[in-house]
Amino acid sequence: MAMLELNGVETYYGTIQALFGMSLYCAEGRVTTLIGRNGMGKTTTVGSIIGTLACRSGEIRFDGSPINGKPAYQVAQLGIGLVPEGRQIFPNLSVRENLIATAANFSRSDDPWTLERVLEFFPRLCERLNNQGSQLSGGEQQMLAIGRALMLNPRLLILDEATEGLAPLIRQEIWRRLEELKQSGLTILLIDKNIDEFAHIADNHFIVEKGQVVWQGGSSELTSDADLKARYLGI
Ligand code: ATP
Repeated sequence: MAMLELNGVETYYGTIQALFGMSLYCAEGRVTTLIGRNGMGKTTTVGSIIGTLACRSGEIRFDGSPINGKPAYQVAQLGIGLVPEGRQIFPNLSVRENLIATAANFSRSDDPWTLERVLEFFPRLCERLNNQGSQLSGGEQQMLAIGRALMLNPRLLILDEATEGLAPLIRQEIWRRLEELKQSGLTILLIDKNIDEFAHIADNHFIVEKGQVVWQGGSSELTSDADLKARYLGI
């Protein structure tokens, strides 16, 4: 069953339309990706899902119930966690404070993410526990952003450009961690450019072009189709 479903979503910035009937779904326990060139509507789709952008028409369902029009805090409480584009960690708070500031067990998990568990998952953060967010490297900030989202105990984790600007070795570490999260049963929606690196952990891909999905398929179909990648992804 689809945990998240978007049907014909249209979203505007004032009078400028950015989404033109966006439709996609995330199956429970799977990694779904939303990919496409810059400015095609990926971040707008994320904003529409999490309730920071109002969609003008169409429908967004989570666990079968409509969530359009709900404020962002209610969407978070329903179990949708975000690792936002640009990480947006609190620069003046320590790593520990960043992790506990917004913590909650929204999915009412029996085995919730705690500070200790996040530090075990990202040992680098343990070493930096009392450092301020602004003192971390880009990779450490990204781990902190993921750790902070996990501390909300979401059922669906959305990552918007989580490996942007990171060195290849750090990206590999992020992919390994995401693979572990998938194996633990977490449902993931991934927005990223490094398709060949994450294809092995992803199940279903949606390519977005000018605010709507133009292709949908599995990893082997995507990675083996050079024409498709050149046409819609510019790679
Ligand atoms: P990127 O990878 O560069 O973030 P994206 O696929 O996430 O790209 P969006 O950021 O969703 O794309 O942008 C979709 C469209 O909406 C673009 O045409 C963009 O110019 C427009 N847009 C985005 N933010 C705003 C805004 N605040 N005001 C007006 N138009 C915007």
